[in-house]
Amino acid sequence: MRLVRFSKDGAAAQIGVLTGDKVVPVAALAPDAPQDMNALIAAWDSVAPQLADAASSGAGIALDAVTLAAPVPAPQKIPAIGLNYADHVEETGMDTPAEQVWFCKQPSAVNAPMGDIELPKASDQLDYEVELVAVIGKGGRHISAEDAPNHVFGYAVGNDVSVRDWQLKTAQWMLGKSFDTHAPVGPAIVTADEIGDPHRLAIKSFVNGELRQNSNTKHLIFTVWDQIAELSQAMTLKPGDLIFTGTPGGVGLAMKPPSFLKAGDVVRCEIEELGAIENTVAAEA
Ligand code: ZN
Repeated sequence: MRLVRFSKDGAAAQIGVLTGDKVVPVAALAPDAPQDMNALIAAWDSVAPQLADAASSGAGIALDAVTLAAPVPAPQKIPAIGLNYADHVEETGMDTPAEQVWFCKQPSAVNAPMGDIELPKASDQLDYEVELVAVIGKGGRHISAEDAPNHVFGYAVGNDVSVRDWQLKTAQWMLGKSFDTHAPVGPAIVTADEIGDPHRLAIKSFVNGELRQNSNTKHLIFTVWDQIAELSQAMTLKPGDLIFTGTPGGVGLAMKPPSFLKAGDVVRCEIEELGAIENTVAAEA
């Protein structure tokens, strides 16, 4: 199933099931279902059967008549792993890490799948990173790699938008990874049952139509399962947490000379079977 959040005619965003080119409001199928995505994910086992007939319900709204919103607007946390594809490690000139390198994007950075991303006043070193995003379903602590697949609700495309000078001017990457609007995710959450093994998906990014990153999630150094096992030794994972699983080579920082994003540029991030997000760079007001 593909879950989105959407708004129509300026109304508050609601959750819907994407079926082809239509969106069926969850409220039309399951009136008692939570309208908060984290709560819906937590209640999924009881809600999902009520959504099974979405395609034939006749309650669909044309996708091109709605505006997509962030599928998880308020994740409790957004852990993100660095240096997790060999070609990206090589282009950064860093060593292949023996340990998983974690930072956090702040939840306040969440953005809609087609939302503008901000070129901040504080920097002109704006960069993109297409990433597979794993959405946590059943939460927990001390989840083993073997059990980790049972804790993933679904997957989406993310852009780990990065402000490189702010990322690299100290040993801590958090600020440079957490500017407002710098975590667009979507277009939908594709539930894990539709994807099965997530380590086999083509992953690409484009800037103004030019292919920049072109890899496959089979090249992840630490798998999604390894990542959940590591994180959950330290923190309790919660429904709706978003894990950014790393980016392949081809970021603007590593181009010769480096090529950063400018106002008006359009960044498209796409992953096989998950769809694409597309964000226009807009100067901070
Ligand atoms: Zn990243």
